[in-house]
Amino acid sequence: MADIIQLLPDNIANQIAAGEVIQRPASAVKELLENAADAGATEIHLVVTDAGKALIQVIDNGKGMSETDARMAFERHATSKIRNIEDLFRIKTMGFRGEALASIAAVAQVELKTRREEDELGTYIEIENSQVVKQEACANAAGTSISMKNLFFNVPARRNFLKSNAAEMRHIVDEFIRVAMAFPAIFFSMKSNGQEVFHLESGSLKQRIVQILGNSYNAKLVSVNEETDYMNIYGFVGKPETARKTRGDQYFFVNNRFIKSAYLNHAVNSAFDEMIARDSFPSYVLYIDLDPSQVDINVHPTKQEIKFEDEKIIYAFVQAAVKHALAQFSIAPSLDFTLNAEIQGLDAVSKPFTTDKKDLASSSNLFKTFTQKNQAHFIERNDKNEKSELKHWKEFYTPQPTEGGVIAERSTQNGESELPQQLQTPNSKLQTGLHVLPDTTLLQLHNTYIIASTNSGFLLVHQQLAHERILYERYSVAAHGQHMATQKSLFPVTLELAGADVSLLTDLLPELQTIGYQVEPFGNNSFVIQGIPADVLPGNEKHSIELLIEQFKHFSSDIKFSKREKLIRCMARQQAIKAGQALTQKEMLVLAEDLFTCSSPNVTPTGSPTYLEFKEDYLDRMFGR
Ligand code: ADP
Ligand code: MG
Repeated sequence: MADIIQLLPDNIANQIAAGEVIQRPASAVKELLENAADAGATEIHLVVTDAGKALIQVIDNGKGMSETDARMAFERHATSKIRNIEDLFRIKTMGFRGEALASIAAVAQVELKTRREEDELGTYIEIENSQVVKQEACANAAGTSISMKNLFFNVPARRNFLKSNAAEMRHIVDEFIRVAMAFPAIFFSMKSNGQEVFHLESGSLKQRIVQILGNSYNAKLVSVNEETDYMNIYGFVGKPETARKTRGDQYFFVNNRFIKSAYLNHAVNSAFDEMIARDSFPSYVLYIDLDPSQVDINVHPTKQEIKFEDEKIIYAFVQAAVKHALAQFSIAPSLDFTLNAEIQGLDAVSKPFTTDKKDLASSSNLFKTFTQKNQAHFIERNDKNEKSELKHWKEFYTPQPTEGGVIAERSTQNGESELPQQLQTPNSKLQTGLHVLPDTTLLQLHNTYIIASTNSGFLLVHQQLAHERILYERYSVAAHGQHMATQKSLFPVTLELAGADVSLLTDLLPELQTIGYQVEPFGNNSFVIQGIPADVLPGNEKHSIELLIEQFKHFSSDIKFSKREKLIRCMARQQAIKAGQALTQKEMLVLAEDLFTCSSPNVTPTGSPTYLEFKEDYLDRMFGR
């Protein structure tokens, strides 16, 4: 009998191996986009035809390849990203296995055009069945363009396994989004059958997330940000109201790599604890950066599953960080600064790390909060970091229909509200008749909500949002006519500012005066606060003026509101009594009365409802009567 074992020809071996990396058009899209990001591109264009079955092309303006490298790139295990096994634990690039281009070349017709900045001419290469069929010099833009046509043209069995165009397209969009979210500093576009479906300008992380998830998220993101020596977590979780019945917008990135992890997903869910219904899923986009030696990304060919050196620590950090963010959000919703995209997105990956820092990390406060048994929920407010009080500032500036009871964010696309009619904040036109019954006892719940009977049911008033509306109208009136009363300070406070802030504050002085602040220049970059609005507690004045300046600095450029309007909105926001503050009967009554003398009592200036009305007939129906 003859021997029967044979070596497979290269192209067949490659086709088989390709099956691991390239399962469908979307896998090729992922690999090509990641290569472009690894090449340092600042602009990446994706073009697909027929859901990638006919064509997938990625064009980047990255560093390009030399003529030799361009050929080499298609060899199996050819990579510029690692040199030895130790490098596997220092990886800062998306790719490292050197398999993607080889796999693509085995199962599609590939055309590569590439040029390095320093070369006069670039290289053009055509490949079919893993063989170079054409190579020549060509003139082209610096960067790389790879097109792959007729995926699986030579593996009919695989081609037949592809799903409908709609289904394959969904996979492509998923992969595109994951890469785009990891690199907010890179411009991305995507065209499908000649139509541009994504156009993502480079920007901050928050901007990128909103570009992708939709504008309705803008005011609904709570920022998560914890830094320790062991790891950093940043990103956003959706406010509880964004929780969905289906597992939708949930994204985890580890060192910029999108990963799937049921374990970490559980950590986030558990941080939401009782804030959302049991059968719903919170939205989140979270980024974890840690030393690459603490993760093994080489456990899965498409690298979507990874192994952490110490999974329990990561779990606890994620849970604690999300709880911390949610706690701050509900204690002090006020202002939010969007962080610099570069810092958020990229730099942290390259932070130095040593194992002895790990010990340091275990003595950090955050670490202690979750390692103390059963104390994971016990999170102190981070008072050192004043920024944490500055959450949600952006909300001021999100242009939304505000007046007239249109609550844009709660509306679904066809204009219907997601809330049952009886729970909706009523239109202000119907408002006038509404008032709290005179002798009623008001109830405060969770130091946040006030329950008040009306003649046809009851109201659930959000004290902070309601007060914000009241102050907003009060300040508006003052700014446009009768100025607010000022209380003179017994001990005028001096405020010293940096150069740029001086002119900003000088600019704002007349407006500040209208709402009761008396601030005067005092030479040498300093100011004296002589008086504050009558209803502001003394002692807080310096801080609130500093906050104002911060806000204007960060947001004055991209905002449509006038200076005065901005000032009023942010003062109202700042000065409103906060959720969590206990109120007396009298205070609650005044608040309720003041609210219903407002011209638009039902919404905050940014469009959140200030109260919900529960009508008696609705209540009856709920009880089946
Ligand atoms: P890996 O990304 O794992 O290194 P690939 O097969 O995806 O393997 O790519 C092989 C090599 O080709 C890369 O290491 C890189 O040097 C080069 N390369 C691939 N795509 C690009 C690109 N868009 N721009 C510049 N170089 C590229
Ligand atoms: Mg690659």
